[in-house]
Amino acid sequence: MYNNPYPYSSDNKRYYTMNYYFQTKYHKKVAKVPLNAGFTCPNRDGTKGNHGCTFCSAKGSGDSILAFFQDLNTQYQQGLTRMRSKWPDCLGFAYFQAYSNTYADLDALKEIYDPFIKDPTVTGISIATRADCLDDEKIAYFDSLAKQKEVWIELGLQSIHEKTMQMCNRQHSTQIVEDTVNKLKQTSIKSCVHIMNSLPYETKEMMLETARWIANCKPDAIKIHMLHILQGTQMALQFFNEKFSLLSIEDYVDIVIRQLEVLPPDLIIERLTGDGMANDLIEPQWTIKKTIVLNEIDKEMVRRNTWQGKYYKK
Ligand code: SF4
Repeated sequence: MYNNPYPYSSDNKRYYTMNYYFQTKYHKKVAKVPLNAGFTCPNRDGTKGNHGCTFCSAKGSGDSILAFFQDLNTQYQQGLTRMRSKWPDCLGFAYFQAYSNTYADLDALKEIYDPFIKDPTVTGISIATRADCLDDEKIAYFDSLAKQKEVWIELGLQSIHEKTMQMCNRQHSTQIVEDTVNKLKQTSIKSCVHIMNSLPYETKEMMLETARWIANCKPDAIKIHMLHILQGTQMALQFFNEKFSLLSIEDYVDIVIRQLEVLPPDLIIERLTGDGMANDLIEPQWTIKKTIVLNEIDKEMVRRNTWQGKYYKK
């Protein structure tokens, strides 16, 4: 009998895409609409730090949000209209992207999230935040929402290496991310963890160790990004002063494939490229051509005869 090594794919992808997950679940395209709910972040307001993570843009990584300063409903409806001009019958997912979207008291969170759970045009919600902005009470609240609609919580990890993340001013530990993923696994909430390749002075072996940690921790999904050096960030200053090296496209393709190989086959790969805005991007310029990067990954996986999970060890 033919043994399909990549069962979570219906196209040329040798990894389990978010698109495949949504298509299988809803039988339709699902488009995430990025939103700015007006939060800040404890790493920006002085609670943990004042300047944020060194790679984070002024908009708190929410640079692709269409109507950044409009009210939430307007942002969502405008974003959904834009998505539907591309995919006319797509379903909408409200993606709370900018800053730390659980950094408020419970009543304030309910005011923001409850209307989206009630809105029939919203299929589910996805919430980007920091692991140190989620206590048990908030997790219980989001769990109650997840019993009504699909709810994802996305946590920024970037790297498991504390030395790197001290340099990047993350201001929380790797352990708290692990503890939070483990708590989310006890609920109906789905979890996604972000990692970033090419952080200053990290070797490919270190990046692979971060992927192995993800394989062991096993959230529901992962986003893999290349570091973007953006105008106006602390990282840009460090880059100009120290001239640390960045991965070439060939090296990025290589490390991403090696990371995919050690991940579990049933872990959803939500992204393999980031969304740096071309206007603010200093380096690496090759990241602007996202489709080329994704195609190169596909081609190289075929050439190597490899797939997600090929070297995954339980
Ligand atoms: S935790 Fe997120 S929003 Fe806050 S500074 Fe870091 S990347 Fe930016």
